[in-house]
Amino acid sequence: MSIPEIFAENVFNEKAMKAALSPEVYRSLKKAVNENEPLDFAVAQEVADAMKDWAISKGATHYTHWFQPMTGITAEKHDSFIAPVKGGGVIMEFSGKALIKGEPDASSFPNGGIRETFEARGYTAWDPSSYAFIKDNTLCIPTAFCSFSGEALDKKTPLIRSLETLNKKAVKVLHLLGKEDVKSVHVTVGAEQEYFLIDRETALKREDLVFTGRTLFGANAPKGQELGDHYFGAIKPRVKSFMESLNRELWKLGVLAKTEHNEAAPAQHELAPVFTFVNTATDHNQITMELMKKIAERHGLVCLLAEKPFKGVNGSGKHNNWSLVTDSGVNLLDPGETPAENLQFLLFLSAVLKAADDYQDILRASVASAGNDHRLGAHEAPPAIISVFLGDDLLGALKAFINNDTYHADKTVMRLGAKILPPLPKDATDRNRTSPLAFTGNKFEFRMVGSNDSIADCNVVLNTAVAESLDLFAKELENSKNVTETAHKIVADTVKNHERIIFNGNNYSDEWVEEAKARGLKNLKTTPEAVVSYTLDKNVELFAKHKVLSYTELHAIEKVMLDNYSRIVKIEALTMIDMAKKNIYPAINNYVKDVLGTAVLKGNTGISANTELTLANTLSSLSDKVFAYSEKLEHLVEKSTAIVDSKELAFFIKDEILPCMEELRSASDKAETLTDEKYWPYPSYAKLLFSVK
Ligand code: ADP
Ligand code: MG
Repeated sequence: MSIPEIFAENVFNEKAMKAALSPEVYRSLKKAVNENEPLDFAVAQEVADAMKDWAISKGATHYTHWFQPMTGITAEKHDSFIAPVKGGGVIMEFSGKALIKGEPDASSFPNGGIRETFEARGYTAWDPSSYAFIKDNTLCIPTAFCSFSGEALDKKTPLIRSLETLNKKAVKVLHLLGKEDVKSVHVTVGAEQEYFLIDRETALKREDLVFTGRTLFGANAPKGQELGDHYFGAIKPRVKSFMESLNRELWKLGVLAKTEHNEAAPAQHELAPVFTFVNTATDHNQITMELMKKIAERHGLVCLLAEKPFKGVNGSGKHNNWSLVTDSGVNLLDPGETPAENLQFLLFLSAVLKAADDYQDILRASVASAGNDHRLGAHEAPPAIISVFLGDDLLGALKAFINNDTYHADKTVMRLGAKILPPLPKDATDRNRTSPLAFTGNKFEFRMVGSNDSIADCNVVLNTAVAESLDLFAKELENSKNVTETAHKIVADTVKNHERIIFNGNNYSDEWVEEAKARGLKNLKTTPEAVVSYTLDKNVELFAKHKVLSYTELHAIEKVMLDNYSRIVKIEALTMIDMAKKNIYPAINNYVKDVLGTAVLKGNTGISANTELTLANTLSSLSDKVFAYSEKLEHLVEKSTAIVDSKELAFFIKDEILPCMEELRSASDKAETLTDEKYWPYPSYAKLLFSVK
């Protein structure tokens, strides 16, 4: 297999377009995409024809408008290319109209109250800025999804809107700085994806994994991740074979799958692609998640993308590496050799600092989900507090710049103590793996994203909030007589006003939680607390000003996120009740029965049965608890059905249902450690986490 040959073979990319389209049509399409202009209809017709012929030559029989509804999954409805002709035959047809616009009967997709059922129709609109591709013999056309009245019902529309505003404001700042040749600024993103691989047969024995994708019960295995022997360890043959299949499929779809390794927890792995433009990166991450699940099945495995599938070991996240690049390829977050003298870099850096501080709440909200609540702040991922890591060197350079001092970065080389090993130049910034938003050399790495999340949401917030900083900077620069002096002042003022958001220390420590509180930083621990930020006045104003999201759309996002949270936790609660009552409670009692049988036998022969009696007693009281908490949980779930308001329901679930689930789990997990394994109805953590060889 030649990788360059198969790479992107199923993508209608520049190369395929150039081959399939007439030069005029190709030019018109490129122009429309580059200049954010709508496409001429005649051009669309020719593109549709060429796309169809290309897809059919690759074996495609169907096409679909591929879109990303507000729940974060992807959706598709397949139509075949066939059109009947006289005499009973068919021809293969695809019109420009069908390419540009679709009308799926999408009334069941969440809309957060935007659509009434009588106007349930949703529209899909072709997004020519992301390439079409072929998946399972179907031509997938990336589209935006909106309501009858044009409101966004998906994650892609706001993302594209946020890119437009950021582009405008960034270009303006650059022009004011004298970089008049810059035509456009784009966002680049590399999304590192963490996941677990579990043996499929073992996983299917657990209702919790089948219904919710995470374990709701389960005592810790004797060994977890404490030895650190899995992290970066040799990849096991079954996993390696999965990774090979995955890479091949991803490459064919033009996904730049690059780095793969074992992660901290047993059975946990990571895949990082080479970064690309954020719109494509978002599509690619969705494709990656979908293929991970599908290919795992082919290998007799299950891929878990839940944020916290196992208690006691690390959960999975996604690192959103974010940067800005000009049309001529200049990374605006690259400090260069002498950051303290790089005014343009410092200005863009300050824009991110200000954005992170002013919009902590929605940045946190953008990654809120029932699953991620178990991960953030669990001493394995950043807490729910937003802060920015700059590293001592960059912070030193920034301060020196503000004070007009000269700054000498530590440019020494590291000697490794053996002559044969080469001396390494010391990195300018140290790594900090605990920070939610870390500056890592030439980009910011946002680490709070959940493994299951679409990366669209956090990028919408980052893009819009940074656009706002840049807009304010541009106004100051516009009114100034000396641009250099004003830019210097902007950087100094921004750092002074937003210093509280900079934190280079350990974000996992309890001291930081205290210090952050003293600094006045927000700690929105749970989804209901975080998500309501979407409709706070200042945030509504931000999104309205930049025409990214209207109040109606923000309200809809808030409602969909709250409803989703409530639904997920409710399914988890019902699954727990089912497992506890039908399997766990009876299993404990069966064991107790046998233990008591042994006690009787021992008693009959005059042997002390103290151990059995104590054990039976302990287990019996634990099984009572398991039953009682199941009953209580059932009652609470029943009670919750009467709550109609989304916010009220989510808070009820957080305050009443989740703590009860915790108590039920804790009684069951304790019982699991005391029960003979052959009685326990579910595969243990040891089997789940260590069975893939
Ligand atoms: P680490 O795990 O050490 O952070 P990885 O190599 O796993 O590093 O991931 C780093 C990610 O950051 C990759 O996806 C990489 O392509 C991406 N990245 C590098 N430079 C940029 C950039 N300028 N803009 C966006 N992402 C970038
Ligand atoms: Mg990585």
